[in-house]
Amino acid sequence: MGYIMIKVGIIGGGYSGVISAIYASKNSEVTILERNPSLLKKLLLTGNGRCNYFNEDMSLDKFHSSNESYIKEILTKENIKEVVDFYYRLGLFSKVKNGYYYPYSNHASSVRDLLIGKLKELNVNIKTDYLVNKIEKYNDKFIINDELEFDKIIIGTGGMAYPKTGSDGIGYELLKDFNHNITKLSPSLVQITSNNKYLKELSGIRCESKLTLFKNNEIVKKEIGELQFTDYGISGICTFNLSSRLDDKNDNQYILINFMPISIKDFDLFMKSSSNTIFERLEGFLNYKLVKVLLKISSISEDKKYSEITNKQKEDLINNLFNYRVNIIGTKSFDNSQVTKGGLDLNEINPLTMESKKVKGLYVVGELLDLDGDCGGYNLTIAFVTGLIAGTNI
Ligand SMILES: Cc1cc2nc3c(=O)[nH]c(=O)nc-3n(C[C@H](O)[C@H](O)[C@H](O)COP(=O)(O)OP(=O)(O)OC[C@H]3O[C@@H](n4cnc5c(N)ncnc54)[C@H](O)[C@@H]3O)c2cc1C
Repeated sequence: MGYIMIKVGIIGGGYSGVISAIYASKNSEVTILERNPSLLKKLLLTGNGRCNYFNEDMSLDKFHSSNESYIKEILTKENIKEVVDFYYRLGLFSKVKNGYYYPYSNHASSVRDLLIGKLKELNVNIKTDYLVNKIEKYNDKFIINDELEFDKIIIGTGGMAYPKTGSDGIGYELLKDFNHNITKLSPSLVQITSNNKYLKELSGIRCESKLTLFKNNEIVKKEIGELQFTDYGISGICTFNLSSRLDDKNDNQYILINFMPISIKDFDLFMKSSSNTIFERLEGFLNYKLVKVLLKISSISEDKKYSEITNKQKEDLINNLFNYRVNIIGTKSFDNSQVTKGGLDLNEINPLTMESKKVKGLYVVGELLDLDGDCGGYNLTIAFVTGLIAGTNI
């Protein structure tokens, strides 16, 4: 006797929706509903167009949620291993740089094209230019926009970040219609704004630095990497990772920047060991524009030698080189942020299936969830793993 396949509707053809579709199609008839003319629009922008889809270091402290205990239930070793195995089976050759996984081609389009090829092979129905703005449940069936009917649905409409890619937050409204709780939403992996009075002069400078984020004078997080100064504040991956730990209710948050690759003691010896000007000595380490500003802030003229400055000037110089303070006033908006912090309360989801505890047959995946990660492939991994769990268990 034949059996009738259940019909699964996937709302959103982003990364989490596509991965859900691939796993769900093994046992169901799957249709993806995507508002854009094509699938995976945001994926093409990831990793500066190179798609950093995974990371060798999958420590759980790279992931954030107001419900931390759920993280380890979703991001299990088996689920994480399946990401790499999946791409191996799919035939995507990877390039691993400092633990960051990219397609060997260096093009996000390789990942997109292989995924779309897989959807076709699995006969997944794809409906593009289709905006879902209404979901109702009658007699165990889900009715979309009063016209399409499914036995089960997976919602993967993304968060609020980069709304021009299609994720404008409508998914939260669809979930609220089913009485789901959405935790506080804020932009994350985003540029930090500051009222530092030298930003105009510092703007455009890029430098390797060690950054420490402080809240109420206590260390919150440290990051190392390339920092970029802008006219509104600071940017760069190290800044983005600190942005995920900001508390938007606290106005005593600041970052101390260490520009130097050596200790204060070694710096002092290095400076004393030459009769060059301080400017020339510092140029051995730093961008000359940065040296100019730091000398100006320390009230030291550019032609001075280390032996010629006062103890107060020395102290100021060392402070500015090793502990340069940038006060935080906020962040750039969702328009600029890579991810959304906050989302569907994980208490309301079964982490073993991604099914809603409130609405049978409704599953939620990807950035819509109150789960986000650092820069480095962690957010695509969240989208993949939650899609894998929902698609396999639906
Ligand atoms: C510039 C940038 C760079 C990034 N780089 C990286 C990186 O290198 N590595 C990494 O891990 N993460 C990166 N991220 C984050 C990552 O891209 C996202 O976390 C991930 O794409 C989330 O997947 P998702 O499927 O949940 O949502 P999205 O990818 O946002 O997909 C949601 C889809 O749903 C569609 N949709 C929304 N509402 C509806 C509706 N009502 N009806 C129909 N369709 C709808 C949207 O059009 C969209 O196609 C980056 C993000 C940005 C913005």
